[in-house]
Amino acid sequence: MDANLKITKELDCDVLVVGAGNAGMQAAAAAAEAGSKTILIEKEENENMLRLSVAAVGSKSQKRAGNYIDKHDLVNYMTAFAQGRVDQKLIYTWANHSAETVDWTEEQVLKPNGLSWRSEPDAFNRNLRYQAWPTQNDPELDNNKGKLSPYTPFFIEKLKDLGVDIHFKLAMKSINKESGKVTGIIAYDLENEIYLKINAKKGTILCTGGYSANTELLEKWNPLSLKKNVTNDSPRANGDGIVEAIKVGGWKDEEPAQLVFDRGMYKPGEEATKVYKESEEFGDWLWLGSQPFLKVNKNGERFANESSPYEYILNAAAYEPDYAYAMIFDANYGDDALENHMVGCARIGFPGYMLSKEALIENTEKYIDKGFVQVADSLEELAEKLQMPKDKLIQTVERYNECCEKGIDEDFGKEKMRLHPVKQGPYYGVYLAGRNLCTLDGLRINTNMQVIDKNYDPIPGLYAAGNDSGGFFCGSYSERLPGLAASRAQTFGRLAGKHAAQQD
Ligand SMILES: Cc1cc2nc3c(=O)[nH]c(=O)nc-3n(C[C@H](O)[C@H](O)[C@H](O)COP(=O)(O)OP(=O)(O)OC[C@H]3O[C@@H](n4cnc5c(N)ncnc54)[C@H](O)[C@@H]3O)c2cc1C
Repeated sequence: MDANLKITKELDCDVLVVGAGNAGMQAAAAAAEAGSKTILIEKEENENMLRLSVAAVGSKSQKRAGNYIDKHDLVNYMTAFAQGRVDQKLIYTWANHSAETVDWTEEQVLKPNGLSWRSEPDAFNRNLRYQAWPTQNDPELDNNKGKLSPYTPFFIEKLKDLGVDIHFKLAMKSINKESGKVTGIIAYDLENEIYLKINAKKGTILCTGGYSANTELLEKWNPLSLKKNVTNDSPRANGDGIVEAIKVGGWKDEEPAQLVFDRGMYKPGEEATKVYKESEEFGDWLWLGSQPFLKVNKNGERFANESSPYEYILNAAAYEPDYAYAMIFDANYGDDALENHMVGCARIGFPGYMLSKEALIENTEKYIDKGFVQVADSLEELAEKLQMPKDKLIQTVERYNECCEKGIDEDFGKEKMRLHPVKQGPYYGVYLAGRNLCTLDGLRINTNMQVIDKNYDPIPGLYAAGNDSGGFFCGSYSERLPGLAASRAQTFGRLAGKHAAQQD
């Protein structure tokens, strides 16, 4: 603690939770429910949104829908997806506790407010080229099936009922450690411009959401992220939890991980590698971008199977000039997208946002006026608008159409059901890049969510959950398990809260 700092106020609790987001709110609820005097602080003037899609293995709603997942198959898929660069103990911990977390939320938060989880009915294992899992639980109104409802306000009410002392506009500045034990934090009251000391007898749980808004940390820990993404969608995440924990003996994953949507856009003539802006909205977010339509580099050449997890096409584009690629599609794109039958929030029918083909078309067409999506009567004109060699683009489309006609993608192996020729004008093209939804690499923790030091010993009194914690993802998030990032945060938040509450 900085000896020169003027501390004007002191607060005491058993369990302190830093960050009112997906992990933090669950952690605070669990600690308070277990009888601990709990303080939850949040630097912004309101809490962060609890995500609508939350994954689980074997929740009540999944059982109601008849969605069965073999836990061992799933854990091994997740491990393989990360090339084994994960702590499999943590993945099993999630698989063993995710259902109890979403079930608790359903009983305690959703049902009293006229909601229930709806288990995604049509996510499935298709084949080895495109595997997906019915993990998703969405909060649906009981009296209006198909309509999703936010549940964050109900969760806040539940926290108040449980006696959690919630403070907004209070930001953690540093962690206090005395005689080897974390005893709380120093926080800054943004409204009254004063510093506070918060003492936490049993535990301090860091849930500040990772570091995707901190370009210096991205440059240090995940420089590629700044090149392949054009937007950051988590402007609150400055890396405070990870940075401060490292100062008191914690350490982090050695390899980066992040959740990226391939729906960022930029205009012809711009360079993807030089654009990185903040957005909290879905503004300039092309839902169609995740559809596996023909994708070409800036020379008009196809370069990969487009039917891949969101981030893979961006990774493939990193081997192409300027990391650039454009998606090319034709007038039939609405019907073609229906046939593609995507999962999670890429599918048409995604409750709350993309319910119909018409909604997808409306979202796409609005970006013509905004200058992102190019439309043309001929491929020559399209190439011109995209600033691409005409001959090459025409040659690529002809070859692609040939594969579509045969029903066999001889060049990159895309499944037959996703091969749609580009032959019906008008023709469309748009330059796409990533949206960094959040970083997923974080502090090394054990299965109790305690932050560990370099001797692999827990740092007494210190916990991390959600995107402040690591060991669970490496490289990319797999959207083939819809809701996994939110579920990791919520499940591990709950486990951290429970464990901290049990301490002396
Ligand atoms: C647009 C969007 C869509 C997404 N969709 C999905 C999805 O469909 N499925 C899925 O699984 N995941 C999704 N995610 C990811 C998911 O939201 C995150 O993985 C999850 O929110 C992480 O939870 P968290 O508690 O770690 O962080 P957050 O929920 O981000 O909460 C962190 C909180 O900590 C606060 N904070 C930060 N620093 C401090 C400080 N110093 N002091 C006090 N408070 C602080 C922040 O203001 C914030 O409120 C999406 C993310 C975005 C941005």
